[in-house]
Amino acid sequence: MDWHGKRFYSFDSFLKNYFGEKVYKVSLDGGFTCPNRDGTIGNGGCIFCSEGGSGDFACDRSLSITDQISQGISRVSKKIEHGKYIAYFQAFTNTYGPLEKLEHLFTEAILDSRIIALAIGTRPDCLPPQVLSLLSRLNKIKPVFVELGLQTIHETTAKFIRRGYSLSCFEKAVSNLHEIGVFTVIHLILGLPGETEDMMLDSVRYLNMLPIHGVKFSMLHILKHTDLADYYEAHPFPVFTLDSYVELLLQCIETLRKDIVIHRLTGDGPKDLLIAPMWSLNKRKVLNEIAHQMKIKNLHQGDLYFNL
Ligand code: SF4
Repeated sequence: MDWHGKRFYSFDSFLKNYFGEKVYKVSLDGGFTCPNRDGTIGNGGCIFCSEGGSGDFACDRSLSITDQISQGISRVSKKIEHGKYIAYFQAFTNTYGPLEKLEHLFTEAILDSRIIALAIGTRPDCLPPQVLSLLSRLNKIKPVFVELGLQTIHETTAKFIRRGYSLSCFEKAVSNLHEIGVFTVIHLILGLPGETEDMMLDSVRYLNMLPIHGVKFSMLHILKHTDLADYYEAHPFPVFTLDSYVELLLQCIETLRKDIVIHRLTGDGPKDLLIAPMWSLNKRKVLNEIAHQMKIKNLHQGDLYFNL
């Protein structure tokens, strides 16, 4: 396992090891919704979820998948010729829909010659056997990453954020995904109201015990037009400063099992929707600070260019 000179296993290093070159992601919108928003599980969605359902950076959903891939590529790589891309189904819950629709969209993406892997963001309660079997078939064509938004292991917090599924449901999904051999990536949010640092580190320790491939860390974003924004206005709670976020993040990195690939160190809130923390908009500064602190603490060898 080559970390390419870094003190943790970054997604960039993993991609270079696995594919032998740098790989870029294009965010796609398959026109899905979410059972936590359409009334099946809940109506309001997770308390922090914006109307874009984490697909605020995806392409235009009215375009075909092939056209979205072309649009996404022209956005990320104006100067790159013959680049390799991961098709990232990001918006809402991307395995929540009729099987024929899933098969059609994912197959169109995976058979595109510019695409070398699929990444699919979903919920653990939206992975029935027929979907798992589709993912398994796709995974035989090109590698498949499945991303699950766990956010926290603590049930009281999960209830507060209206996540809508239990930890046991999550564990079952991770085990099923492991069985079919896809790469499972878990999202954790640091800074959820009521959580202490130790509670957040407990979530990391818990992940260490599971057969997962990667983790995405993000600070909590408070976005306009969400129930979290209303709650924040009525009951202001502390949000991270840049320093306090970086300090905790480094503890998470130190705690994390060393073979788990870190796909993301900081989140992006859409600029026009973000209420707090505003410093997170300056991603370059956040990454510089992470690199700087790792260097000071001798957790990092000096370069900072993570693929996020
Ligand atoms: S599961 Fe995802 S898309 Fe659905 S409400 Fe929660 S954050 Fe939004």
